[in-house]
Amino acid sequence: MPRILARDIRFVLVEPSHPGNIGGAARAMKTMGFADLAIVNPQRFPDPQAIWRAAGAVDVVDGARVFAGVEQAIADCGWVVGTSARSRRVPWPVATVDQFAEQLAREDHGGKPVAVLFGREDRGLRNDELEICNLHVVIPANPDYPSLNLAMAVQVVAYEISRALSRTAPPSDATPSPLTHARDGGTPELPTDWDRSPATASDLAGLYRHLGNVLSTIEFQDPKNPRLTMTRLRRMFSRIRPDQTEVAILRGILTRIERTIARTH
Ligand code: SAH
Repeated sequence: MPRILARDIRFVLVEPSHPGNIGGAARAMKTMGFADLAIVNPQRFPDPQAIWRAAGAVDVVDGARVFAGVEQAIADCGWVVGTSARSRRVPWPVATVDQFAEQLAREDHGGKPVAVLFGREDRGLRNDELEICNLHVVIPANPDYPSLNLAMAVQVVAYEISRALSRTAPPSDATPSPLTHARDGGTPELPTDWDRSPATASDLAGLYRHLGNVLSTIEFQDPKNPRLTMTRLRRMFSRIRPDQTEVAILRGILTRIERTIARTH
């Protein structure tokens, strides 16, 4: 048995413009055994074209949840990956879709859902959205024309995950190891039988806001010109993948700093 179930894998479409692609994505998911579809701020939805393209997967379209922002769509997720055909200004942990699917199937996610983000048809995912992700996933394609249609990208990812889930052997009784490195690229794997749950996207968003405020208060960064400091810190935490207790400790430290400053001013 894989450690994660198909129902714990969420496909998140970020601001899709064509309802047909929503239907196509739903069909792609259902053919591979997935049903958790989240749509962030769609241009046109619900729409008859989504139903039409979904064919026999109308149930997935009907069950789709619509969110106002990416943060809300992934708040409860313990691992978030963003699919992208292009590399970005700050290098991020990157895996090919098959490497990602292998890691996903092998790892213990502490019962938390995993989110896979897909970008807009015309512009993909924005940098601030990619910076929420633990990992960037690429479908290897023609370097001169790597951009797949949105629903087709969903199909390839859903296919690779479903293959990896069906290949995964039962978990071994091997002694739990401290953070190990993913076998092929990716982010460090969570050790098995960890004593705490992984921090969720919402825990991390709270930490980043808190940290950003404190860094501005102590004038480590200019709030009007934060430069790349927060991006680099986000990347570091994405790489480390702290658990919920570690995030709580860091926030406790930040709160102490704030109180000490308030007392001395
Ligand atoms: N023109 C956009 C691509 C949009 S394609 C850009 O340049 O970024 C719509 C979405 O499908 C992308 O945001 C991504 O989520 C997914 N996608 C398309 N091709 C992909 C590829 N080769 N690898 C990974 N994801 C891809």
